[in-house]
Amino acid sequence: MDNLALAYYRVSSKRQGDRWSLVAQQEAVQKVARQRSYSIALECQDVKSGSSMDRSGLRKILAEVETGQYNYLLVWRLNRLTRSLADFLKMTAICQDNDTQIVSLMEPAQEDAIGRLQQQIYVMFGEWQLGVLKDNQKMAYQQKMNEGKLLSSSVPLGYEYVAGQAKVVAAESQIVQYIYAEYSLGRLGYRKLAECIHQKFDYALTPNGVAKILRNRVYTGVLENQYGRQANLFPRIIEDRQFEHVQRIRQSRQVTKKHASNEFLQHKVVCPVCGGSLTPTHMIRGHRQYDYWYCARSACSGIRINEADLLAQLDAHLMTLIDNHLRERLLEEIRQRSVMKPMVSQMIDQTKLFQQFETGELSSEELAEQLAQAKVIKQRVTTNQIAQKQLELKVRGLLSKLDQTGTEGLLAGLDIDHIEINGLKQVTGLFIQPVPKINLFKLGDVDT
Ligand SMILES: [Zn+2]
Repeated sequence: MDNLALAYYRVSSKRQGDRWSLVAQQEAVQKVARQRSYSIALECQDVKSGSSMDRSGLRKILAEVETGQYNYLLVWRLNRLTRSLADFLKMTAICQDNDTQIVSLMEPAQEDAIGRLQQQIYVMFGEWQLGVLKDNQKMAYQQKMNEGKLLSSSVPLGYEYVAGQAKVVAAESQIVQYIYAEYSLGRLGYRKLAECIHQKFDYALTPNGVAKILRNRVYTGVLENQYGRQANLFPRIIEDRQFEHVQRIRQSRQVTKKHASNEFLQHKVVCPVCGGSLTPTHMIRGHRQYDYWYCARSACSGIRINEADLLAQLDAHLMTLIDNHLRERLLEEIRQRSVMKPMVSQMIDQTKLFQQFETGELSSEELAEQLAQAKVIKQRVTTNQIAQKQLELKVRGLLSKLDQTGTEGLLAGLDIDHIEINGLKQVTGLFIQPVPKINLFKLGDVDT
C-alpha cells in the first residue's frame, strides 16, 4: 500500500490534559489522515517528557518504521516526537533510511531535503525557545543524580545502559583499556591511536573520540558533572593511577597545542584553496588575544580568517534565514493557535435589549438578567484578547532577544557538517546534518 502511516501522540504529564491532550492530538491526526487517504496501521502514545528517547511508545513506533513498510509518520507537532534536536536528527535518519516521511500537522513541510531541513529548524527553534525546558531538565537530572540514577541512556564506549544502570561491555572495555595503555607509553597521539584501534579491533574512532575517552573520568568509576559527583553509577574500567598518568601526558602535550576556542567549528571550516579543514590559532597583541582559523597544510598557499569575523558572518546569515523562514511563520502560528476568536457575534447588543424592554418583549427582570450576562461575555472577550496579546508579546520578546544575543547558541546546537568560505574570507555556505549537500544560506535558490 502506498499510504500506510504510523501515528504518534504524546503529552508530558497527565496534568497536561488541556486542549492538546492525547485525544485531541489523535482526533486531529486521524482527521488529516482521512482527508489525505492515509491508512493508519498503528498508533502509539506516551505520557512522558519529550526530552528523552526512553519512551516505550516511541520505541515501538521507531521499530515499526525500521520494518520499512510505512510511508508516513504522523504527529500533531514535531515537538510531540522530541524536544531535542539531537534526538530529532536520529529519528530523521531512521525515517529517511526507511523512506518514511515525518508529517507534522502544525508544521507542514515539503517532502524533500529542504522540507526535512525546515522541520529540523522548527525543532531547533523550539528547543532554543523553550529555555525553560532545559531548566526543568536540569532539575530532573539533579533529582536523578540525587537518587543515584543514570542521567541518560547514552553511555560512553565500554558501557551499555540496562534499565537505568551502566554495565560493562567486555569487548568495548578492552578497547578503552588498550587506548589508556598505549597512550600511557607516551608514543602515540590521538590520530595514530585511532588508526591502531581500527586495525586491531576493527572499530572506528575519530582522533577526537580517542581524546574524549582519554579525558573521561567515568572510566575510573566516578561520574563528575555540574550536578555533583557520583561514585556508584559506572563500574571501573581504568585504575586511578593510570588515569592520572594519562592526564599528565595530555597536559604536557597540550602546552604546545593550540587552544580550542569554539569547539563546534573544529574540523568544520573548509580551506577554499586546498579543501582541507582549518585549524584554530591565536595571536596576542598588547593585552588582547585575536583568534584565527588558518590552513596548516604546508603544501597549501593557505588562508587565515579572524574568528570573530567568521562568527559574525555566520550569525548574520542565520538571522536572515530565521527571518525569511521562521519569524513570520511563528507569529502567524500564534495568531492561528489562539483560541480566542473575538466572540463579537455572541456579544449582546445592549441598545437592542433596551429596545426590547421598551416594546415589552423583555420584563425588567429579564432585562437585568440579560445585561448581567452581556457584562460577563464582554469581560471574557477582553480577558481572551489580553491573553493573546501576552502570548504574542512573549514571542516577540523571544525574537527580539534572538536579535540582541545572536545565534551563537543555535550555531553550537546545530549538527554542522561543514562551513564554506571563499578566498575573500566571506562565508558562503553552511551545511548541516542530515542534509549535508544543501547550503542553508541558499535555501531560497535551491531547487530539488
Ligand atoms: Zn589549505
